[in-house]
Amino acid sequence: LSGLDRLHNKRYAKGLAFSHEERQLLGIHGLLPFAVRSDEEQVAHCHTLLNRLENDLDKYMYLIGLSERNERLFFKVLSSDIGGMMPLVYTPTVGLACQKYSLVFQNPKGLFISIKDKGHVYDVIKNWPETDVRAIVVTDGERILGLGDLGANGMGIPVGKLSLYTALAGIKPHQCLPVTLDVGTNTKSILEDPLYMGLREPRTTGAVYDEFVEEFMQACVRRFGQNCLIQFEDFGNANAFRLLSRYRDNYCTFNDDIQGTASVAVAGLLASLKIKKTQLKDNVLLFLGAGEAALGIANLCTMAMKAEGLTDEEAKSRIWMVDSRGVIVRDRPKGGLTEHKLHFAQVHDPIDTLMEAVVKVRPNVLIGAAAQGGAFTREILETMAEINETPIIFALSNPTSKAECTAEEAYTHTQGRCIFASGSPFAPVTYNGRKFYPGQGNNSYIFPGVALGVLCAGMLTIPEEVFLISAQCLSDLVSKDDLDKGSLYPPLNSIVNCSLAIAEKIVDYAFKNKLATVHPEPANKLAFIKAQMYDLDYPRAFPETYPL
Ligand code: NAP
Ligand code: MN
Repeated sequence: LSGLDRLHNKRYAKGLAFSHEERQLLGIHGLLPFAVRSDEEQVAHCHTLLNRLENDLDKYMYLIGLSERNERLFFKVLSSDIGGMMPLVYTPTVGLACQKYSLVFQNPKGLFISIKDKGHVYDVIKNWPETDVRAIVVTDGERILGLGDLGANGMGIPVGKLSLYTALAGIKPHQCLPVTLDVGTNTKSILEDPLYMGLREPRTTGAVYDEFVEEFMQACVRRFGQNCLIQFEDFGNANAFRLLSRYRDNYCTFNDDIQGTASVAVAGLLASLKIKKTQLKDNVLLFLGAGEAALGIANLCTMAMKAEGLTDEEAKSRIWMVDSRGVIVRDRPKGGLTEHKLHFAQVHDPIDTLMEAVVKVRPNVLIGAAAQGGAFTREILETMAEINETPIIFALSNPTSKAECTAEEAYTHTQGRCIFASGSPFAPVTYNGRKFYPGQGNNSYIFPGVALGVLCAGMLTIPEEVFLISAQCLSDLVSKDDLDKGSLYPPLNSIVNCSLAIAEKIVDYAFKNKLATVHPEPANKLAFIKAQMYDLDYPRAFPETYPL
């Protein structure tokens, strides 16, 4: 690399952090003003710039721009204030960014593979300039957060998720590849948007779609190897379940909306049971929604209850679900029962509304994942508080506008007695003089650590136990102090430690179950994991020299 490359290439750039010696030796002296800045000064400067901006989308654009100019500084800024930066690079702002992606688009990021490339997917993947890709996050943009089909504008999601791979689990940025499979979009306003930069066609479905995804999977393995992790993100419901069951036993893959969500939600449940001093099996759960998130959580809850000693049947009898047609009961006149839902169908007369379900089922835990903003009405919350001394209320839908209730509503309508968690962040709430800090059931507590563990062990598939192990691990990291404050999760700023702890458990599990392909087995697994993580410190611009 020439000195100029080092100045301008985002991966080597240091801005004013180049020392005078480096500047002279690289032949770029004079191309920068005299001052040499420390890392801390650079980060502080970025925060000053961010603070000048009034709206979150502008902050998002600033941060994306920074990642294009000086990648390491971008990650230093994220790491300097994870709690403050996460809402900008992830939900809720990333949702806004996706809705306006064509407008705010400046530098292309990630790989766009369109259905027109079918038959040539490998050739497109070959164009990606990095050779050592270990982790891919892929979307087809059909169900972006709770916002629906955003087509190629969904690219904001894999880009955002992978920046969290690095910021939260130290997976190196050049090993991360965001991919959008652009198969068109069915959203009329997007198709008609003159700025839209994706393929202007209705979605491809059916066999052609399946062949395209299959070609993509094979091409990833051909180029990057069998242990390249492929995380599915924000696919539509039917495809998400189908593709997961098709690929989970033959590829290193998981679906974060189903499995990552399940893990973080179960972690929150396990933590809340520490307050209630009960086991999961002692509770009845009612879900609003029976989609990727809800079914994923329900499945993992079944697994957790079985680990507590219940049979499959007993576990399922404690889980009730409501979809758009009412409570899921066997032989429902309104129909709409897919195979995955039938799993959890109860034998009961039809129940149409959530309110009615709360009254009849008398749940201890109410979990919302239906992207129906405000669905947990005052009446519903009050009834939960009548039934339970300590009701557990999870309003998981994202972004904030889709949350089933706000933190304030949850505490107010349960007289401050509920245990609450949400998908999007809520500010602390004061009720009756007590201050609550609602925890965010953010998938980011789980997926970066899972990815780190899977990659470090070189696992070739990701069994479901991984997500239960991760949930248990995360719930054990919640301190009494967190619980006293009303948080079911550790502070966001400690998330890197969560990732490390989860990764260590997974590497351990992988070796114990002969799923690791990395040999020899490291004596100290934590040290082994840490040694592979991204270094936030700028490397020296030239190699060490030594006297000969
Ligand atoms: P999905 O697969 O499309 O599922 C949505 C579910 O909601 C479906 O079962 C649907 O019913 C149901 N539904 C829709 N309208 C309803 C209504 N009026 N009453 C009752 N149920 C209704 O979506 P998903 O992936 O599960 O995501 C759902 C939400 O969860 C999104 O907002 C997403 O952002 C959020 N989420 C949060 C987290 C987190 O907090 N960590 C993680 C993942 C997802 P039908 O089956 O009858 O269509
Ligand atoms: Mn998602």
